[in-house]
This record gives sequence, structure tokens and C-alpha cells, in this order.
Amino acid sequence: MQTTGDQQLLKRINRSVLLRLMQQQGGLSRARLAAHSGLTKSTVSALVRELLDEQWLVEASSPVTGDGLGRPSTPLQLNAIGRVLIGIEVAVECLRMVCVSLTGELLSEHEAPLDSSDPQAVCAQASGLLQPLCADLGARHITICGVGLCLPGAVHDSTGVVHFAPNLGWRNLDFLAMIRAAFVSAGIECGPVYVQNDADAAALGEYEFGAGPKDDPLIFINCDVGVGAGIVLNDRLFTGARGAAGEIGHTILQINGPLCSCGRHGCAEAFIGARAIKTSADLERAGAYLGVLIQNLDALFNPRAVVLGGKICAQYPGLLTQAKATVAQYTSQSGMPMTEIRAPRYGLQAPAVGAAALVLHRFLRPLSEGASHVFGH
Ligand SMILES: [Zn+2]
Repeated sequence: MQTTGDQQLLKRINRSVLLRLMQQQGGLSRARLAAHSGLTKSTVSALVRELLDEQWLVEASSPVTGDGLGRPSTPLQLNAIGRVLIGIEVAVECLRMVCVSLTGELLSEHEAPLDSSDPQAVCAQASGLLQPLCADLGARHITICGVGLCLPGAVHDSTGVVHFAPNLGWRNLDFLAMIRAAFVSAGIECGPVYVQNDADAAALGEYEFGAGPKDDPLIFINCDVGVGAGIVLNDRLFTGARGAAGEIGHTILQINGPLCSCGRHGCAEAFIGARAIKTSADLERAGAYLGVLIQNLDALFNPRAVVLGGKICAQYPGLLTQAKATVAQYTSQSGMPMTEIRAPRYGLQAPAVGAAALVLHRFLRPLSEGASHVFGH
């Protein structure tokens, strides 16, 4: 390995350590950053200078006293206006694009019906949506950290290959390469580009812009026509060997139950998926089965937080109530504490915001799989 490469990597790691400390607790001084990170004060000072110059951080205008480390100090914050993250959700019926600050503030959102699910057409439409936003941000001297995309399918973490997206009709598609090429040919300069599954992205959004490690493990359940889950475990997404972990819609909840779209009987999707809900009795049953599903996930992962999102949960808030009641019944029977079950912070924008969060997540973890190709940016 070259020495320069090592130094660059070390610097990236140290920068990410400081940014993650700032993400978890705003208002830290340089002295506090040094104390919490274990880095020397001079290293922290030099890195903070860079992070200020590159608009990752801002400092408060007046120093404060009394932070317990002696001299008056200047509190630092993540820069909420100088840099943005962009997320694009390729849904079955539409494209959603959001622009989000480093602190998770939703700055703008756009939605357009999907012209066609042909991959090249999707790339062209996404480029057309992104181009004016990039031009506008550029004119305002706002830096784009990168663009994350998410879609309903199994995506390989580090290669961005979509193994299977049945609702888009895609199989073994090198979507990351295609979308990058489309952005380049449209003259879009937007930093690194990433692709992830929609429920995985939504889970990351809840994690990065929420309580972070205090919510680890976190499970995001996306209820639509299909039912999927994104799982954050040990500070990273748990996606499985081929990106298909979390396909909870096809876990079996009843032997010889109703027919599922996959051909099996009694899958969770056959009780909870949009097509299974036609009457109020169906809705009540779906809520109860959702509770069963959460109980099973709790036994597997013992999560700190379960987030119930997707179109079905937004349309029928009673599902959350019923699911909670069912889980409460199981926890009271076992005497175990109840896991927190909540609605998503960003509602139906959760996957798109999560795709934006993916950019930050990867940047802050320079050693994680999939981040290696951004060295040098
Ligand atoms: Zn099934």
C-alpha cells in the first residue's frame, strides 16, 4: 500500500469520526471533540478548519464559557445550508426526489408519475428531474454531497446491481452503472451516486436523522402491495448475501393460508399487503397479523425501534394501533418489555429521504463495503 493512500484514508476516518460526533451532539467545541474522539487538539483544529472551509461545519458567532474544559470555546454545528444530500425513489408508479440538509431537514420535494419502467427511460427521467435542481443549487453555491437512489428490489450493496425487482420487471441489472452514465451524459455533477433497496433506505433515513446508535437495531417495515423490511444492525444495513434480507412479506404466518403473489400460501403479504385489504374486517385482520410479524421480528432481532411505514400504513393509521395492541398482548403474556413501534418521521417520503441519508451514511463510514470507490472525492 502506498503511504499517501494510508494517510488519505486515515484523514477520512478522522474526519468522519468528528462529523459523527457532531451528528450525535451539536454544539461541541474543538476541545470537546478532542476529548470525545481521542485525537490530539492540533489534529482536531486542523480537521475542523478543513471541515469549516468545505462547509461541513459552521461555528457559532460568539464563544461560550462553562463547557467544563477551561477557556471559552466556540460551539460547532453541522452546516445545515452549505451542503445538501439528494435522494430519489424509483417507485412503481412515480419518481420522488428530495433535497435534504446534513441534519435531516427536508428542503425540497418533487414527484412525477413514472413515464415507463424501462431502465433507460427511468434513468433519463431521473436525470431530467435532477438536472434543474443541480443547476439551482450550483447557482446558490450549495455543494451536493451525492445522490442516493432507492427502488423496490434486491440491490447488491457494493456493486449497485439490482438482482431482482419484480414490480419494475428488472433482473440482474447493473443499474448503478446505468444511472451514473445517464447523469454524466446529461452533464450532471452531483458527487458519488449510490443505489439501495427502498425499505433499506427508509431504515437508514430513520437511523441517520433520528436517534442513531440509540435506536440500533432498527427495523423499518414498508407496507405497500408488497411488504419488506429494512434492518439496521450494528451501525450498518443488514442486507444479506444478495441484498434480499428483510423480504418479510414472504415469511409464512399461516399453514394453508390465503394465496400469495409468490405462489405460496399464508405469506405475510397475503394478510397485510395492499391487495389483501378490501373490507374493514380485512383491515382488522391485517393489523393483527402485522402485530404477529413484529412479534416474530422482535424474537429474531430484539430491535430498539420498529417503524411502520409505506402507503398502507399511511392510508390506514388504525393498522399501527392494532399492531401495537397485538404486540402488547404478546409482551404482557411473556412479561418482556415492549419494543417501541412508531410511524415514520418523514411519512411517505421515508424511502426518498433515506436514499439521501445513504450518501451521508456512506461518507461517514469510509471503511464500509461500498464506500471504497469514493476515495479521492
Ligand atoms: Zn409470498
